[in-house]
Formats: sequence, structure tokens, C-alpha cells
Amino acid sequence: MTCVCRLCGGAAPLVLAGPPAIVRCSSCGTMAVRDIPEPAAREAAYQEDYYREGTGERFIRPFEDAAVLFKEQRVRAILRRAPGPGAILDVGCGGGELLRRFAGRGWTVLGTQLSRTAADAARRLHDVEVLAGDLPELVLPAASFDVVTFFHVLEHVERPDAQLAEARRLLRTGGLLVVEVPDFGDPFFRLLGTRHFCVDPPNHLWFFTEETLRNLLSRCGFEVTGLSRFSPEYSPYSQLQNLLNILPGEPSRLYRAMMGNEKGGRLRRETATWGHALLGILLAVPALLLSIVFPAVVAGNTLRVYARPARSSGAIQ
Ligand SMILES: [Zn+2]
Repeated sequence: MTCVCRLCGGAAPLVLAGPPAIVRCSSCGTMAVRDIPEPAAREAAYQEDYYREGTGERFIRPFEDAAVLFKEQRVRAILRRAPGPGAILDVGCGGGELLRRFAGRGWTVLGTQLSRTAADAARRLHDVEVLAGDLPELVLPAASFDVVTFFHVLEHVERPDAQLAEARRLLRTGGLLVVEVPDFGDPFFRLLGTRHFCVDPPNHLWFFTEETLRNLLSRCGFEVTGLSRFSPEYSPYSQLQNLLNILPGEPSRLYRAMMGNEKGGRLRRETATWGHALLGILLAVPALLLSIVFPAVVAGNTLRVYARPARSSGAIQ
């Protein structure tokens, strides 16, 4: 069955039966899940099971600590391009760690979060302002931010074009947009299909490549000014989990065992999980090498794009 691309209206035939079933637009090339879950089901997926009540954390302790260290790297990368201080909007701000760091440097900060649990935790723990809700529905004042960031957000939302069009409206002249998404130009996606770590059902709805992300940004009135294909936070671990996903059985077993939710606890009690952990130690160096070599020759598995509002903007409204 051929679907219609939600971004450009082109025909989008099925390319992977899944689950999840994945379609690819024959006009703009963008890949997406064929069946987008109902809004209520999607909102529910980001509440207590995704972010823990009270702390807003997703992983068990040592992995949360490691994730915090990488936030400082994000901050420095942004400050090199937008020294500020100014105003920053972090869309899908998680626990608010990035915003806390900007606030500490004198920036005016605002976060948005679909999860009420994480929004409450960010407000309480990091004393940053976080609005619960979907960006296009929040109606913020135009041209009020110097930086708008989407870290691992666009692949989760129903209409990434609407999010970017809103970001375009909210950015001041010369402002900076930062978008980071999984890269499905990754050779492992060709090998593993829907067993690829970053397919991550039911959370990911879009599967961008460098080309489709660039096209989307251009259609939404942005000019790409910089790009990176390697993330120390995501790339090595993603390729390790992809190597493990070659094994039969439940995909991404090791990753899911690190989650702080009930399923993570159950997986940590299973012998197979500890087998994957041991194998993971042996494969750590090969995975690190693949995560460095792939982006240099084909594509990485994490794309970060820096963009500015295009001067002669043909932004979609
Ligand atoms: Zn399309």
C-alpha cells in the first residue's frame, strides 16, 4: 500500500514491513513510520515510563551521570557559534540540564517538554522555566530567541516541518538553529532494517538522512552553516548496540536494560542480558572504530546541523 508523504504530499511506498512499517517518499526521499500513533498514546509514552517521577531521569544512575557530562560539550559547541549571552529555547528539553548551564552563564532560558513529569522535574531541580506542550501550540512571541535547539526531538514529532517553521518565526535575525537527529544514512540501517538501534519503536516517527534533513531545513527557511556526523554521546554506543542487534532475539536488549523503568528492571534479571553485556565489552573498541570510520566514508549515525534563517526566506507558513 502506498501512503502520502506528510511533508510534501508525494507518494510514499512501503520500504520496510517492520514492525514498525516504514515508508519512503519518492519525491523528497524522507522515511517515516507508516502509522503514526494517536496523540493520546504518544503523550502517554513520554510520561512516567519514559521519565521517572520526581527526578525526570530516564536511565539508571551511572548512565545518567555520563549523560550530564555530554551536556557541557553541547553548551560549548553552541557558544562557539552564538557567544551570547542571549535567549535560548530548548525544545524537548528533557530534565533541563542544558538550560541550567546556559542560565548559569547569564542567558535567558526557556524549555518545552511534552512530558509533564520531566517539565515538573526540570522546574524543581534546575530552577528553569519549562512549558509543558507542543511547540507550535504554545504561541510564543515572534523573534524572541537567539538560539533554538532540537536535540533528538524532530524524529519524535508528528510534523517536524511545523516545528521548524515555528522555530524560524521565533528566531531573531541572524539567530542559530541547532538540530540533532539519528542519521539513517548509517550503513547499519541497510544491514539491520527495523532492528537498527535508532528505529526505536514506538518513539521515533521519522528517519532522516543528511540529504532529507538538509532539504527539510531549506524548505522551512533555513540555511545550513555547519554539520557534524559524530557524537561522542551517541555514536559509539549506537554502533555497539547495532553490532549486538545482529544477534537474534529482542533488539536493543542492553540499552533497554539500562532504563530506570519496570522493563529495564526485568531485563537486568535475565541471563541473556548479562551475555550481551559481556559481549558488549569485547565489542567496545570495534564499535568505537566503526563510529569514527563510517562518518568519514559514508554516514555516521548521529547528525548535528547548525543553521541560520535564510536571508531571502521562502519559509513555509
Ligand atoms: Zn515527501
